[in-house]
Amino acid sequence: MIKRAAVIGAGTMGAGIAAQLANAGVECLLLDIVPSDVDGANSDAKARSKLAIEAIERMRRGKAGGFMLDSDYALVVPGNIEDDLGRIAECDWVIEAVTERLDVKRSLYEQLTKHRRPGTIISSNTSGLALNLLTEGMDDDFRQHFLITHFFNPPRYMYLLEIVRGPETSADVLREVESFCDLRLGKGIVRCKDTPNFIANRIGVYVMGVGTQFMLEEGLTVEEVDAITGPLMGRPKTASFRLQDLVGIDISVMVMQNAKNLLSDDESLSRFEIPDLLTRLVEEGRLGRKSGAGFYKKEGKEILVLDTETFEYRPQREVQFPSLDAARAAGGGGKALAALLNGDDPASRYAWRLLAETLLYSARRMPEIAGDVVSVDRAMRWGFNWSQGPFETWDAIGVRSSTERMVSSGEEVPAWIADFLEQDNESFYKFLGEGSARRQAYFDIGKADYTHVPASAGTLLLTHVRSRSEPVESSKDASIWELEDGVLGVEFHSKLNSISDESLAAIQRAIDLAEEGDYAGVVVGNQAANFSVGANLKMLSTLVAEQNWFAVDEILQSFQRTTLRMRYATKPVVAAVQGMALGGGCEIAIGGCHIQAAAESYMGLVEMGVGLIPAGGGTREFACRAHERTPEGAPTVLFPFVQEAFDTIAQAKTSTSAADARRLGFLRPGDGISMNKDRALQDACRSVRTLAESGYRAPRTRDGVRVAGRLGWSEFKIILRQYQAGAFISDYDVHVATKFAYALCGGDIDDTCRVSEQCLLNLEREVFLSLLGEEKTQERIAHTLKTGKPLRN
Ligand code: NAD
Repeated sequence: MIKRAAVIGAGTMGAGIAAQLANAGVECLLLDIVPSDVDGANSDAKARSKLAIEAIERMRRGKAGGFMLDSDYALVVPGNIEDDLGRIAECDWVIEAVTERLDVKRSLYEQLTKHRRPGTIISSNTSGLALNLLTEGMDDDFRQHFLITHFFNPPRYMYLLEIVRGPETSADVLREVESFCDLRLGKGIVRCKDTPNFIANRIGVYVMGVGTQFMLEEGLTVEEVDAITGPLMGRPKTASFRLQDLVGIDISVMVMQNAKNLLSDDESLSRFEIPDLLTRLVEEGRLGRKSGAGFYKKEGKEILVLDTETFEYRPQREVQFPSLDAARAAGGGGKALAALLNGDDPASRYAWRLLAETLLYSARRMPEIAGDVVSVDRAMRWGFNWSQGPFETWDAIGVRSSTERMVSSGEEVPAWIADFLEQDNESFYKFLGEGSARRQAYFDIGKADYTHVPASAGTLLLTHVRSRSEPVESSKDASIWELEDGVLGVEFHSKLNSISDESLAAIQRAIDLAEEGDYAGVVVGNQAANFSVGANLKMLSTLVAEQNWFAVDEILQSFQRTTLRMRYATKPVVAAVQGMALGGGCEIAIGGCHIQAAAESYMGLVEMGVGLIPAGGGTREFACRAHERTPEGAPTVLFPFVQEAFDTIAQAKTSTSAADARRLGFLRPGDGISMNKDRALQDACRSVRTLAESGYRAPRTRDGVRVAGRLGWSEFKIILRQYQAGAFISDYDVHVATKFAYALCGGDIDDTCRVSEQCLLNLEREVFLSLLGEEKTQERIAHTLKTGKPLRN
């Protein structure tokens, strides 16, 4: 069992891995060398462990830092290898993340063997050094407990973890590490063979190299290639060159150089030749974001682009090709890619060449780097954030027709692909079996037949549910599925999963079905990037323009009825949250009896940003929670709890993780966190079943809610005046917050009064409607719709 760990090497990766261990609640020693400028006789522990101390501070900085909860930094104990290496005897797992040099790593292992307990697991984070060379000459116990665990940068956010076992690595060690990294560190694991650069970097670096060469050959510009190779090709917005600027062009060049040195047998070795363009950029110190300039350079507010002929920066030009326009018009996904590939212009030619080369190179690497296509696809999706891996993409564009196109343009196709097509196979993936036994299968190259994709126990993917069954009911914005036997699921699929009347109707309908039928309960969840970004502001602003206050009130009432229905359903309703759950999305998330949140969940009632307040039941829920936290007979204790709610909502605080959402009160102590995002939906289904099986009873209605009343409202007015005097907030912020305080405190009543939930709902609706009628709120909404950002007017 892994209870305590050590990370050696407190650089980019080591610091991130240590932080992720702390996020998992594991105490972790973080060691680096004693800095060379520290005198050997200097016994100041802080100076000697400076590199690890600074690494922890680095992880604490910034919004997207390494720690999910800042206080967890205390779980990482800094030290140095001269004074503290003995402490690894207390650790169950030692992760080495020192400089990528065989001699440095091996000499460290020799020191480690003097201190490690037999049985302690050791792993290396090497990006590409061979495992057999790393462990050469080490004792049996070391080799049996050694593996490669290749995290991606940054370790907190990147889902992929490549694992390589050696011939002597014990099966128990492999199982233990895989299970720990999946469940506790939340990683998607891909087992790799011991080949240079493993899977993701092997293919990713190749694509990066050929992408640059093709750009020069086709005479395209940097911004043109980035427009082609982004989301339209199923790749992240960082596309090709923005990604290199982000990673660091020196790092890209180093990885390409390493690949070239290690890959003497690769038939495409010439493609790993580093383009002069990259060498020159590195020589001139134009390394990307870290040096202020690379392929792009920010000047004032403008982002200039590198002209690859003059080597000067110039303003970006609008990228226009008929094939790009057609792809954009196609909406996205497979249709966009098809439109891009079927054009007749340089953009289409480039996209086709790059994609064909990516698919063929991946196919040629089988079975050298991976035993199956599933591993390659997962590695590219999880390690490079592609929306589909190479073989999935090949399926999407049609394997037969695209292969014929490759052959007709003179490409050589690997023998196994030719055989695959000769045997009348049409896709690398398909679904096999009937009913609930229907599962996804892949083409197993070794067997030349299809095999079920190994089900990863504990994960449930909506893509699979969609492929194996029909929805119970479906509308434009939401669908109801039977996720598992007896568990209904409501999936939103509107733009950005914003909440519409159809989404609300789907929740109500699923609860009706669950209550009437033989279902355990309902999960409200999806697996899009964000659970929901909130209510549909566009629709709201249209109604405002029409002065249709009646319709707005109807929507609010429907919203409130839905969150009440979620709470008081006789079957459990659980929300499975990931990514952003903002505004109305957050109100839905907190509406049911339980939340199962993925570790990366960003929850917030952010309505204040647009000059409104939560009125789908959010203000009522926080007022009720303050009441529930207050011991009976101690009314004076109520106000601090109301104030916490006020601070969170009035400042539109958004959690930086699920752990932070618990600190802010969006998650209650009993709500669950799934470190692995792919497990959240299944964990939510399990919660539904457990609650149902243990005799679920809906909570009683909250009729006698203690509120802070007029007295509390006055206190908030004083606090707000102080903020105003300090010029911390605008006059209009004060106005909105004062109105919010009124609703949160239960209105202008005596603080000895108790109110019903309906009374609180009426108040939040009243305040919302009155604010919506104000010009400055309308300006805020218009601004947010236009820019995506809040306006402080
Ligand atoms: P880095 O240069 O940022 O950090 C390496 C750290 O190791 C430095 O702080 C250095 O002082 C320390 N170090 C060197 N020798 C040591 C020793 N004997 N004992 C203790 N500490 C020592 O490097 P990095 O990017 O964090 O990479 C670390 C490892 O992770 C490498 O093997 C690299 O290939 C791999 N990796 C890097 C990335 C990435 O994107 N940076 C991604 C995946 C894997």
